[in-house]
Amino acid sequence: MPRPTSFSRSTGPAFWLRILAWGVWGLASGSALAQSAGAAKACPAPQRMQVHSQAPVTLRFVGDLVLGNSHLVDNIPAEWDAMYFGQVESYLKNTDLTLGNLEGALTQYTKTLKVTGTGRSYAFRFPPRYAKLLKDTGFTALNVANNHARDFGDQGFADTGENLRQAAIAVVGLKGQFATLQVKGLRVGLVGFGFYPHQNMVQDLAAAGQLIAQAKAQSDYVVVTFHGGAEGDEAVFHGNSNEIFLGEDRGNAVAFSRAAIDAGADLVVGHGPHVLRAIECYQGRPIFHSLGNFVGVGGLSIRSMAAMTAIGGVQLGPKGELLGLEFLPLRFSERKVPQSDEREDASHLVNWLADNAKFSGQFLRVPANEASRKALVDWASKTIPSAKVRD
Ligand SMILES: [Zn+2]
Repeated sequence: MPRPTSFSRSTGPAFWLRILAWGVWGLASGSALAQSAGAAKACPAPQRMQVHSQAPVTLRFVGDLVLGNSHLVDNIPAEWDAMYFGQVESYLKNTDLTLGNLEGALTQYTKTLKVTGTGRSYAFRFPPRYAKLLKDTGFTALNVANNHARDFGDQGFADTGENLRQAAIAVVGLKGQFATLQVKGLRVGLVGFGFYPHQNMVQDLAAAGQLIAQAKAQSDYVVVTFHGGAEGDEAVFHGNSNEIFLGEDRGNAVAFSRAAIDAGADLVVGHGPHVLRAIECYQGRPIFHSLGNFVGVGGLSIRSMAAMTAIGGVQLGPKGELLGLEFLPLRFSERKVPQSDEREDASHLVNWLADNAKFSGQFLRVPANEASRKALVDWASKTIPSAKVRD
């Protein structure tokens, strides 16, 4: 791995302070020591996310962002700007990189080919000024390889990219492309995948591998983010098999994620099922199989399994070495925005999914408030009777 150039140049007092802070942090974290001592294929145990990470480099991730729809887009009250991320903004801001999935178009173009108003079809359109709101909230990169970014056609899609670029947000998920961000001298490559032919497709493992390898050749750390999988309560579980939803082939998330890591990805972050999924460690590299929704204003459900969400994160050393994993359990408010959850139900859910996974692998458990574990497990077992509980 090439030494990051700007890092080797910064040898002033700040540099040495950072090295010292990193050393102290490493000593306090047994998992980080174990990782560097050669437990080659293991991942660090996830920790509760704190607002401020002590690691040299921190990257954080969220799932689907829906900030309005075609019906309410022109009538969104100004006070909503502060509502969307009010309770979680500090976690999104105090990072070196924050990536989410923008599940809609930032455009004033009003023509959609989607048949809306009936059934399960939505057209998601957000005010263009929200590009700046997202930037001010902490987002440095957004994935547009999903099933709603083109709800307003090529024009809406082009506008979305332009609005994001004007707000200095990296656009992730364009076909045949990857984004590279300089993060404290670390070159972070970001590659986004969806399940449609005009996107980098989760179904095409050969093409995916090639693109990821290209990104790896030009990056110190590669994040693959993908939108795929079935939706709904039952979708918290998935197997190592193709998922079909609404007649669409939405890929084999397990095979894709592992192939991505085999091709050079250091981390895989999934979304699309609108619910959380388990966290896996494959070849010493983490896979957040799904981070669910993150903001659902204007269309996403917050019922049942979709009531819970989370922020995931990785803590890296100056050369991109994985020092730690972070997880922040959250619950949706009635307004469909994320808020804190003392019961930490999202953590219990992720652990329950790890304990009952439908495919074999090495799963990661997150810390959780023990007093509320049984209630969540009982509820989840009743909600999804097909899940075999080994509790
Ligand atoms: Zn979607």
